[in-house]
Amino acid sequence: MLEFAILKATGTLAPRLGHLSFPKRKSISTPGFIGITSRGVIPHISQDNFSKSLSLDGVYVALEDFIEKIPQKTPPVFQYEIPEPLRRFIALPQDALLVLGPRRNPPIPSPIHSTNKELGILTSVGFKALSSKYYAAAARKLQPDIVVGLADIPFGQETIGIKRKDRMSDRTEVWTRDIIAKKATLDNGEPSWGIFAPILPIERDLQSWYLEHLVDDMVDKISGVAIYDAYLLDDLSEELHHLPRLSFHAPASPHEILRQVGLGMDIFTVPFLIDATDAGIALNFAFPAPPKGTTTSSRQDLGLDMWSDIHATSVTPLSEGCECYACTKHHRAYIQHLLAAKEMLGWALIQIHNHAVLSSFFAGIRTSIEAGTFDADVAAFERYYESALPEKTGQGPRVRGYQFKPEEHAKPGKKNQRVFTKFDDEKIAELRLAAAHGQQPGVKPEISDAIDEALVGLIGLEEVDVDSTRLVASLKLEDDAQTRH
Ligand SMILES: [Zn+2]
Repeated sequence: MLEFAILKATGTLAPRLGHLSFPKRKSISTPGFIGITSRGVIPHISQDNFSKSLSLDGVYVALEDFIEKIPQKTPPVFQYEIPEPLRRFIALPQDALLVLGPRRNPPIPSPIHSTNKELGILTSVGFKALSSKYYAAAARKLQPDIVVGLADIPFGQETIGIKRKDRMSDRTEVWTRDIIAKKATLDNGEPSWGIFAPILPIERDLQSWYLEHLVDDMVDKISGVAIYDAYLLDDLSEELHHLPRLSFHAPASPHEILRQVGLGMDIFTVPFLIDATDAGIALNFAFPAPPKGTTTSSRQDLGLDMWSDIHATSVTPLSEGCECYACTKHHRAYIQHLLAAKEMLGWALIQIHNHAVLSSFFAGIRTSIEAGTFDADVAAFERYYESALPEKTGQGPRVRGYQFKPEEHAKPGKKNQRVFTKFDDEKIAELRLAAAHGQQPGVKPEISDAIDEALVGLIGLEEVDVDSTRLVASLKLEDDAQTRH
């Protein structure tokens, strides 16, 4: 089963080195990170490139991405009658650790309020309620390596009343018991999984009842803890210190990752990685930071905005010395061109690079903890780099429904700007005149106009009104005419 060894710990709220292993999977050195998937894949990365070009040891998958048909029909992933159905469904390599949680990371706030038995989730066909029993049954069916327990957290709510916090604690306690009870019913020889119990992002005394029960009755049945507020790690009971800590406290920058590592966090999920890729930003930082040159006094950017024209003629790699596929095969000018052409390979290459940068960053953190220079290295990193990632300037890939908040759904206007739009009448007349010189004789004028417009990009594809029945009819007539000859 899942094992976690602490190799070096320097204190209670201090960085620690560890090793997480699960049978048949690559072990994860901690501090480290796992990839965040969307509908089962790392965005922009196909399954073959996952094995070839990403050095990820594990991924996080959200159940809400797969249960679009509850409760009317059985979702396809549950109809797969083979071992490890979720892993096979998303074509995840055998050696990658698979972590299943209820909600995406970060989750879209759900307008469906949780009840004592159900949690509000967002499926691809809208908001639904997920019962604790359903979740436990899904875990048994899907056979992931780690299951993150259900936590009643009202995401997106600025202030939470004391009564609500009480309920959060009560419900999370019951739901954690539910998943533990389900695991206890597994048959002999049936694949088992580790449970990571959620630690709520509220003060210790407001979840004390839950935490006490966790320590008293459940500690030997859980394999780790899922942390939603890293700054409350101080409150974690000592009896839980031996367990691996998985962070769902989204860091906004590498500096925040370092802060969490400094508090003893082990495994990270890093949403800014994917946000940077979507924004066309190639991350460009290393830990420990390179020695500061005497020539520049300003801080270095944490990433390159690849939409910028300044890269249009640059034949250097995204980061000097980076050994990722994107940096060893391509240069900045090519990637800038791909983004400008809205070619999806651009985002794929940046995603590969960004994951490589973060892998090296964590490797650097581990070496630094090992060497005992972590605090000094963090101070140097903060002096060397800007405190936030560069602002997004270019247009990202198409925005999906799960990427914007419920209130944005109601706003008028398109979420995705049209790539091709119509010219105004004047411009059309001008282009028609120019095109007229190249007109073929014998072609009917209205057909020729349509061809011209299509050729010069005057009409968006979605606006071509093709009457398919008429087309089929006319083709048939010609055929008939031919057979009669
Ligand atoms: Zn690279």
